[in-house]
This record gives sequence, C-alpha cells and structure tokens, in this order.
Amino acid sequence: MPRIALKIDVDTDQGTATGALQLARALERRGIPATFLFSVGPDHTGRALRRVFRRGFLGKVRRTSVMKHYGVRTLLYGTLLPGPHIGKRRADVMRSIAGSGFEVGVHAYDHVKWQDGVTTADEYWTRRQLVLALEEFGEIFSRGPIVHGAAGWQMNAYVPGLQEQLGFHYASDTRGTHAFLPMVNGVVYSVPQLPTTLPTLDELLGRDDVPQSALAAHLQALVEKSGTDQVFTLHAELEGCAYLDLFLELIDRWRASGFLLEDLAGHHAALRESTLPVHELAMGQVEGRSGWLAVQGPAQPAVFAPATLQYGPATGGVVRETEMAGSDDDAGAGPLGRHGKRSGQA
Ligand SMILES: [Zn+2]
Repeated sequence: MPRIALKIDVDTDQGTATGALQLARALERRGIPATFLFSVGPDHTGRALRRVFRRGFLGKVRRTSVMKHYGVRTLLYGTLLPGPHIGKRRADVMRSIAGSGFEVGVHAYDHVKWQDGVTTADEYWTRRQLVLALEEFGEIFSRGPIVHGAAGWQMNAYVPGLQEQLGFHYASDTRGTHAFLPMVNGVVYSVPQLPTTLPTLDELLGRDDVPQSALAAHLQALVEKSGTDQVFTLHAELEGCAYLDLFLELIDRWRASGFLLEDLAGHHAALRESTLPVHELAMGQVEGRSGWLAVQGPAQPAVFAPATLQYGPATGGVVRETEMAGSDDDAGAGPLGRHGKRSGQA
C-alpha cells in the first residue's frame, strides 16, 4: 500500500494562528501524523501578494481567492503595516503543535525574502537566512531543526551544502517523483531530498480540467497509478482554513483506501539511505504554478544509483527542466566542492 507523507507549509502569521492550529486539531482527532514547517521570522506576505496582483501572475479567479484566503490584514503586512514577527508572536502555537506530537521543521525565516531572493543569492546571504531560521527555531523549541522545506520550492546551489553543515537530516525543497541525494555541479550532498510528488490543492484549483468536486478523486487516482510513496504538500493558509473540509474529505478517502498517512520523519525512516539514487538538482516548471521551481533533475550514472532500488513511473508533473544555476565555481575548488562529498568518492 502506498504511503503518503503530509507536509504542511505555514507561510504567514495568520496561517500559523488559525490554519496550522485547525489542521493540527483535525489531524490529532484522527490520529494522523504530519510535518509542520514554520516560517519563524517576519511576515512580509503583503509585499509578495502586492506583486502577484500587479504582475497578473494569477488568473482572475485565483486573484480573488488570494484575497479571500490571505485576508486584508495579511495583504498589508510589509506594506502599510509592519510585518509581525511570527516566531515571537506565535511561539506558543508552534510549541503546542509540537507538543501534540507533530514533527516540526523550518520553512523559512522570512518567507517572502527567501522566495524572491534565494535563486540569485550568494552563499553568504543564503547561510545568513538559514542561520536566522535555525536560531529562531532554537528559541522556540529549545533544539535545532532537522527538516527543511524551502519556501516556494526556491533553492540555489549553496543550499544542499549548507544543510549538511547546519545539521539538517533531510529536506523537502523540491518537486519530483521519489527520494534522492541531490547533486550540484558534480558534487553529491548527503542530506536527502524527499520531494513533493503530488500536485498541490492550489495548483489543481487553477486548472479547468479538474473541477473542485473531482479533486479528491483525481489525487486518489494519481496515487493509485504511481503505486509509490508520496509526499503531499499542503498550506496552512488554504487547507487549514477555507479548504479544511475538502482536505479532510481527501485524507478520509485516502485512509479508507488503506493508504498509510505519515510525516516526513516516517517517510525518511522508511528509506534505505545507503542506496538512495543521485539526481541532479534542477529548475523546472510544474503545471498550475507559475515560475520556476527546484526539481528532481535527471538521475546520475549507475555508480550513484544502485540497481537494487526500483521506482515506478514519474508522477511529479514536471514539464520542463534546466540545470540549476547559481554557482560559477568549479565543483572542486568552490564552496560547494569544499563542503560536499565529491561525486567520485561517493
Ligand atoms: Zn510557503
């Protein structure tokens, strides 16, 4: 039976206070594990959403729904109102969710800053954002995080090496089909990527061919067709609020089908890390979402991917790929080479 890991991205102050909490309560009642990835620094969502409106990235319907789901206050954070510091303001909520037994990890320090800036940032900037998140997480939970899920699936070539150095055990920063060790510029990194394998609710809602009444059946069919373990990403701001009932219908359906619902820790524990395949970290596009995201690129030669691991057909919906940009360094001499395992030694 397929296993489905639930990864809950929490982007905003409001999403933490209401959406994350409502999801935690609903899942707790059902005894279902999930991983909550928090944004622990300032909420500057208003800046990002203002750009979304201006650029016209989303269709009319989706723009309306952004307004509905994020609310007027959130739209103003970082524009007319100062952005609230989520970690300082909502530490109790985050601790209570962890206290209920849910796995917690880092989504971002400043979600908007990461999402807009990381792909073109240098190593110093990237390290600073991760360290800020780590410190804030430590303030809240009195321990370091072991799981990271990049805001907006945005990455650069430095992130995998920094994750190694900063003590992360696994990460879900990418879109793809199955767990892998990321390779950047010829260097293989040891923090496994557990990519999001299924389309998200908001991606499906933007599609004309999948009416809302058919969403649960559509996702169910995707899981059954692939027959492999999945990671489903949901958003506290959507599935924890206006789409809570739809989400609960979905997971009740999954459970009735005998699918095992788990958190990323469970997903990670079920992997045989020593035999994980190596895939290039790439940028690609996903149906229903604008812009370029970090994706699971091509598999690397058999020396990196022992033949003992068999996976089913791709389900990630990645339609285009290109190589991950972001470092001109020679793989052996640059910061990536110093900190990563050289592919030849793997
Ligand atoms: Zn997010």
